[in-house]
Amino acid sequence: MRSCTSPTAPYVARILHMYNGDLNKVMEKGLIMGHEAIGIVEEVGPEVKDLKVGDRVIILPVIACGECFYCGHKEFSLCDRTNPSGELDQMYGHRLSGIFGYSKITGRYPGDQAEYCRVPNADLTCVKAPANVDAKKPVSLADVTPTAWHGCELTEVGEGDVVGVWGCGAVGLSIQRLAKLRGASKVYAVDKDAQRLEIARSFGMIPVNVNDHADPADYILSVEPHGLERGIEASGFRSTNSAAHATMRALGIEGDGSDTASAVIKATRKGGNVALIGDFFYSTNNLPIGMLMEKAITLRGGQLYAEKVSEICPMPQVPPLLSGYGSTEKKDGKRRKAPTAFTKSIWY
Ligand SMILES: [Zn+2]
Repeated sequence: MRSCTSPTAPYVARILHMYNGDLNKVMEKGLIMGHEAIGIVEEVGPEVKDLKVGDRVIILPVIACGECFYCGHKEFSLCDRTNPSGELDQMYGHRLSGIFGYSKITGRYPGDQAEYCRVPNADLTCVKAPANVDAKKPVSLADVTPTAWHGCELTEVGEGDVVGVWGCGAVGLSIQRLAKLRGASKVYAVDKDAQRLEIARSFGMIPVNVNDHADPADYILSVEPHGLERGIEASGFRSTNSAAHATMRALGIEGDGSDTASAVIKATRKGGNVALIGDFFYSTNNLPIGMLMEKAITLRGGQLYAEKVSEICPMPQVPPLLSGYGSTEKKDGKRRKAPTAFTKSIWY
């Protein structure tokens, strides 16, 4: 199929740390990046049931088998069978699913910032997109919106909740708007970029500029003494505002800064829910484990369960199916026979 990525699309920030070299330890030369795209089906493998040449599709970032224990629970990014790399077993004790263009530890799958893209398990990995809608809209449904929905689900945002979201990038803003859609009474939007904060304000959020407050958690508690019902970290390990964490990262004493996560935990009420949606990979220092335990906070995280996108958007359901997955390499010039399709890029 032709893959179609849009240069004006709201790419998730999780690709930025790759371009910035923060994940060089798990990258390798020549790996094509990109994991959110739409495309036109150019060719289908013999086991593809639901796609045909010419279909316009959203290509989801997560490659899942649809059959394992985790896929059975719709926890698609935890799929046990689509990541042939064992390095995450060493790092985490378990491996995640395969993800397009997302390092050698998530399967070395070539990404979709390319003219053509091979899409494994295409019936599950693709969602049909309307042909007459501007590409900017469906491409945001590949990763940004499902990730944002994941954050709301993990924290169980509901009617009347007071919510805080650290980060006003594409995902953070999307979380904030979805929280409102789910009935949140107030949403605090935390960032240090005035332009982003203004966008959040224009959508009805309460902006909190980190530059104006030595401790944004203390500030939120000063105006919201009960605390946040739901706190969501959507900025990630690189967005430290603390000189201590910046120094520790520079010295290699820690991999991930955690001051934003610490602030979310502090600002969240006793018994509240916190989710880490911004990417964290390694270990950190000074995470307030005592505060986390004593306040009875529920802390969750994880990559998006992308294939649940159809729960958010009224799109044609793609039946789970599929057998077969594996290496993305084409041996002897022959494409794999699994349910695979190929895309070619169209740039808007
Ligand atoms: Zn699976």
